[in-house]
Amino acid sequence: MRNPFVVANWKMNHARAMAAQWAATLVELYRKEAWPAAVETGVAPPFLSIDTVRAGVGSVPILVGAQNMHWEAKGAFTGELTAEMLVEAGCRFVILGHSERRHVFGESDERIAHKVQAALHAGLLPILCVGETEHQRDEGRTEAVIEHQLRKGLEHHVAGRPFVLAYEPVWAIGTGKVAQPEQAQEAQGFLRHVLASVAGSETAKATRILYGGSVTAANAPGLSKLPDVDGFLIGGASLDAAGFHKIVLAAAP
Ligand code: PGA
Repeated sequence: MRNPFVVANWKMNHARAMAAQWAATLVELYRKEAWPAAVETGVAPPFLSIDTVRAGVGSVPILVGAQNMHWEAKGAFTGELTAEMLVEAGCRFVILGHSERRHVFGESDERIAHKVQAALHAGLLPILCVGETEHQRDEGRTEAVIEHQLRKGLEHHVAGRPFVLAYEPVWAIGTGKVAQPEQAQEAQGFLRHVLASVAGSETAKATRILYGGSVTAANAPGLSKLPDVDGFLIGGASLDAAGFHKIVLAAAP
């Protein structure tokens, strides 16, 4: 049994005032309608809003995480943060290999693999993102692309330490073009199959695979019924606490 995991990825949105408002609204909504303990939730604010969110959510059971990190433990890496720094700030998870990091900032599979390893060593739960572009899908290369990203991304994973995968088709991110349920299931079932060959069948069975890409409160109920969709990674629709709350409720088993 895999507990659903629903994660808000704010990207470069919500400075402290908005972050505090989001947290206060979530506290209110949770008081009115708590989600079942089986549903795990997380929020990845910009680095500078992490403290505000941690302080604001009070006793609402939501993990706070980060959107990126560096793989080295220290050094001359201007503008970067280490896994230890994130842990010190109270982060419990980190999103790695997001398509915006891959495509806008040119992150390679090799670097992502080192980040996964560093996160695991520091005790952070990595959320490794994979996904094909529209062009790659049109060329029939979806499986080859996501298999490659998965195998490379887990090249240095640490046996016995849990991690999370997120299938995020690039063409569905921020476009309003959500994957059809059969597309999501097909890709995520395939990822679980590949995972079994990379990390063993027990790990494949236990590992959560999230879906991400234009998830909303309207399409979440249908997607969350799919056997290999174990929660969501949500960008745009997570910026509104009420929308996020609805998606969390929709993910309940
Ligand atoms: P979106 O983003 O929900 O705005 O499509 C998802 C993501 O990038 O994680």
